[in-house]
Amino acid sequence: MNRDVQHGSSTRLDQYVDRYAARTRGMTASEIRALFSVASRPEVVSLAGGMPNISGLPLDVVGDALGDLVQEQGTVAMQYGSGQGVPELREQICSVMALEGIEAHPDDVVVTVGSQQAVDLVTRIFCDPGDVVICEAPSYVGALGVFRAYECDIVHAEMDADGLVPEALRQAIMATKAAGKTIKFLYTIPNYHNPAGVSMSPERRPEILEICREADILVLEDNPYGLLGFDREPYRALRADESEGVIYLGSFSKTFAPGFRVGWALAPHAVREKLVLAQESATLCPPQFSQMAVSAYLSRHDWQGQIKQFREMYRERRDAMVEALSDLMPAACQWNVPDGGFYVWLTLPPGIDAKLMLPRAVTARVAYVPGTAFFADGFGSSSMRLSYCYPDPDRIREGVRRLAGVLEAEMEL
Ligand code: PMP
Repeated sequence: MNRDVQHGSSTRLDQYVDRYAARTRGMTASEIRALFSVASRPEVVSLAGGMPNISGLPLDVVGDALGDLVQEQGTVAMQYGSGQGVPELREQICSVMALEGIEAHPDDVVVTVGSQQAVDLVTRIFCDPGDVVICEAPSYVGALGVFRAYECDIVHAEMDADGLVPEALRQAIMATKAAGKTIKFLYTIPNYHNPAGVSMSPERRPEILEICREADILVLEDNPYGLLGFDREPYRALRADESEGVIYLGSFSKTFAPGFRVGWALAPHAVREKLVLAQESATLCPPQFSQMAVSAYLSRHDWQGQIKQFREMYRERRDAMVEALSDLMPAACQWNVPDGGFYVWLTLPPGIDAKLMLPRAVTARVAYVPGTAFFADGFGSSSMRLSYCYPDPDRIREGVRRLAGVLEAEMEL
């Protein structure tokens, strides 16, 4: 039974290899994982991770709320709870979603372990092996991992500065249907896209909804960054104008703190029931303590004021990054200037491969994520994702300076 198997770039002996289910073939460690253990050293400026910077949170307020929670409701908070989630929190979630034009009933909300689990549960209830999920090109690496784990086929559709291109979506649907495959849903990140940094324009949204309605495809709207815009009010969610055809996912990871692992799905009534059953089989119930902690934070703290502070901090970091890119990067590079969220998508001059360059970048003490991580089909080699969310502005400038140095050396090779 012993056999050498390929795990990313390293070969290891795995004596269980013949026993794993077929679906684990889609679960491979990324080739860049080994580099990231190096990239997390303090001397390396990491523009790779998407960790929110939560240093501005009022830890005293959170501490008091947690203390009171244990003192006053400890036996409830530390007990099993409902598979659907804490009712009071589900009501509060509806007021969060109202900021993006959504009128929802708490009964249609299912609390999940981060929105990552919501992506998993939705895929679990809808997708059989070989079913197609249409994703933007590029798309969120963590969702691609879920779709692969359920043995879905991933079909990409192009984006531009206004987000998903309607014509590209039409083409993807037509080609997939012509190949005799079943499309289960469109997975889209309409706001401050991870990794592309763009948003779907309000003008496009009705057209995207109409295309999916006509083709009878659900929309999975993944929206963890929607409230983190720098210069404008949030756009109306897709779910605000279409309640039957859209499953909306939200999260407190970026607007509060990811450690609580609280996210949610808002789904049409029947789907919501299936999601609760799936949630019960996955976890029995989402963590009661985390939910009550988030609920207490929302009711005791000016959470909208906190989000405003986060936005200002991220805007300053975005400015530091795009200024440094303009000042330092070779002219043949292209990048977008995001108006919210965490990410810049940068395209290198022709002939330069971001994945091949990464070890040299890490040696020069700067890290990024190569574009190929965000495609299921090998595309993206000339691009990279740069995150400005975590390092402070001086570190960001230093990281870009190092990156520009590596790139210049690469272009001379
Ligand atoms: N969707 C997108 C687009 C994300 O960027 C992330 C986190 N990086 C998630 C979902 C998952 O977030 P969480 O599980 O922390 O809510």
